[in-house]
Amino acid sequence: MTENLLFEKPQVPTVTIKGSPKKFPVKRVFCVGRNYEAHAREMGVEVDREQPFYFIKTAFAVIPSGSHIPYPPGTDNYHYEMELVIAIGKDGFNISVEKAHDHIYGYAAGLDMTRRDLQLVAREKGRPWDLGKDFEQSAVISEIVPASEIGHPESGAIELQVNGAVKQSADIDLLIWKIPEIIAHLSRFYHLSAGDLIYTGTPAGVGPVVAGDRITGSIANVANIELTIDNPAVD
Ligand code: MN
Repeated sequence: MTENLLFEKPQVPTVTIKGSPKKFPVKRVFCVGRNYEAHAREMGVEVDREQPFYFIKTAFAVIPSGSHIPYPPGTDNYHYEMELVIAIGKDGFNISVEKAHDHIYGYAAGLDMTRRDLQLVAREKGRPWDLGKDFEQSAVISEIVPASEIGHPESGAIELQVNGAVKQSADIDLLIWKIPEIIAHLSRFYHLSAGDLIYTGTPAGVGPVVAGDRITGSIANVANIELTIDNPAVD
């Protein structure tokens, strides 16, 4: 029986899986804030070692690596943030650090694209970050590589270039909150489920891009990513 809907049901975005004809349907996009010390420093803030914190992007912000997207509206300071992404493949609540890997389907490279000017205004005024973080096409993701292929990465180079010039260069072993710790902590507040993505935070070196720029990035033994910024959309 078909549902009696006012308009067509929105299609959730899906992500390509390396080596598989199946796609990964996205449910939620969690993002960890300030998870590399050098990045927290460049943002002028101290790292909170008591507990991690998060913001969320809607699933509809997800777009694939290789996209050409228009420079977004409402900003004059549009930033890249290169990140390791965790793809959850199994539901769980109150997951222990020891069991966290069981809930991971795989990993991807991601870009947490940010309207930095709007984020910083919100931060200063103590307001939510949504306008700075959760906007259309702001969650770029590579193909997902299954953990059954690569295991669970604990170290490896994470790099980003703009027009070929290196802007971010670090190692994922510098993550303050490690992958199992993030899953254990986040699952105390949310029932994590298959389809959830977790952007784990960006290293130092964030900065602006403008129309015409091409972003490329890589995480060793995980995936590469690229994004091209076009002129703003007219309507
Ligand atoms: Mn980020």
